[in-house]
Amino acid sequence: MEMKVLIVGAGLGGLRTAEALRSNGFSGEIVIVGDESHQPYNRPPLSKEALYSGLSHEDLKFRQRDSVADVSWVLGSAAEKLDLAEQKVILADGTSRAFDALVVSTGIRPRLLPIPGPTQGLFTLRTLNDAQSLQAAIGPGVNVVILGSGFIGCELAATATTLGANVHVVSLDIEPMVIPMGVDLGAAMRKRHETKGVTFHLGHTVEKFNGDHRIESVTLDSGEVITASVVIEAVGSVPNTQWLHDNGLHLDDGVLVDSNMRALGAQIPIYAVGDISNHPNKFYGDRTRRIEHWNMPTETGKRAGAALAAELAGRDLPADEFFALPAFWSDQYEFQLQSYGLPGAGASHRVASGALDGACIVEYFDEAGVLCGVIGIDTVKELLPYRTQFMAAKSWEPNR
Ligand SMILES: Cc1cc2nc3c(=O)[nH]c(=O)nc-3n(C[C@H](O)[C@H](O)[C@H](O)COP(=O)(O)OP(=O)(O)OC[C@H]3O[C@@H](n4cnc5c(N)ncnc54)[C@H](O)[C@@H]3O)c2cc1C
Repeated sequence: MEMKVLIVGAGLGGLRTAEALRSNGFSGEIVIVGDESHQPYNRPPLSKEALYSGLSHEDLKFRQRDSVADVSWVLGSAAEKLDLAEQKVILADGTSRAFDALVVSTGIRPRLLPIPGPTQGLFTLRTLNDAQSLQAAIGPGVNVVILGSGFIGCELAATATTLGANVHVVSLDIEPMVIPMGVDLGAAMRKRHETKGVTFHLGHTVEKFNGDHRIESVTLDSGEVITASVVIEAVGSVPNTQWLHDNGLHLDDGVLVDSNMRALGAQIPIYAVGDISNHPNKFYGDRTRRIEHWNMPTETGKRAGAALAAELAGRDLPADEFFALPAFWSDQYEFQLQSYGLPGAGASHRVASGALDGACIVEYFDEAGVLCGVIGIDTVKELLPYRTQFMAAKSWEPNR
């Protein structure tokens, strides 16, 4: 009988897993369910150049390999409940999909703060539809408040400023992007934003949105009132695990999986990939992590596809430790940021070359003084030796 793999979440991780299933010899049925109406597309441009220059699915969609041309897509319908005992997933449209093996690739959604007041004019950014709504609302002279100063908040501040909006960023952090970057590089990035016209309100949050039906201003916890017709919440994320509860899976932070991306606590094959996968990685040492970087859906998808194809064929699962180097980039104005490793795990840092107000490389060290990550600004090529070094060591602490 033909085996059926159900992939829930039609994003990069889901697509890469389907491709890896095929390249590892799985010839059974693959069905991909997604709540968006689109086939998988590239999200990073949504806060950057696409928000500025144009947002079409045609331009953003991932090229699909011939090997997955026979995949069945069930789009525009969310998975509402996993029934593990019956090996089926119930969808929002009332139908259900049976499976022999399940891949969870439902990613994350923006976290929303419980702020009182009107919600017209309030935005988050995760999907193409979100970006299209935002694009229609932002323009020259529009007063925009961005809540949160992480990467997405800062990229949106840069793009909205470039589009001519008046941008205020409100954040409880002491500097923008402080968790991955540390105080010094965060402060240097703040200054670049300020030079472009962004106003920061650091160490503060929004207490209420003011206006009758639409947001007209926001009140900060300091009592300051900022005029705004557009508010964007970019204060972190929540893994989309709500449909998986009560099935014995470990869901404290995403889906806890083993080195093959196979869910812990699952008797039958259930795998989790991408932003939602809380996985071990030789690079992280003893602990598991969820990493919300673009390269991880591909890395975890490849591993899950290989392991699941082996499991369904009755072959041994890969026995080596999973290794993937976390890597991210960010574009803000004309500045290109690039990182390898886990700078956010650093206890100290030093400027290895250049100066913080220009092109530079900052190295990050763990508590034992071992290099654990690096961030460069406008030094994409100069950063490559660090990548080579991390890839060779497969760890930030080679002897661990
Ligand atoms: C605006 C933005 C900018 C980014 N910029 C960068 C960057 O510069 N550099 C970088 O390294 N990374 C960046 N990222 C992160 C990167 O895009 C993600 O790491 C990547 O998209 C994760 O892929 P995924 O497949 O795990 O999840 P996703 O791409 O989010 O796919 C998950 C899919 O599952 C769907 N889904 C959710 N719940 C359900 C359900 N119950 N039923 C059915 N479907 C469901 C979702 O709607 C979505 O379509 C950015 C992300 C965003 C949003």
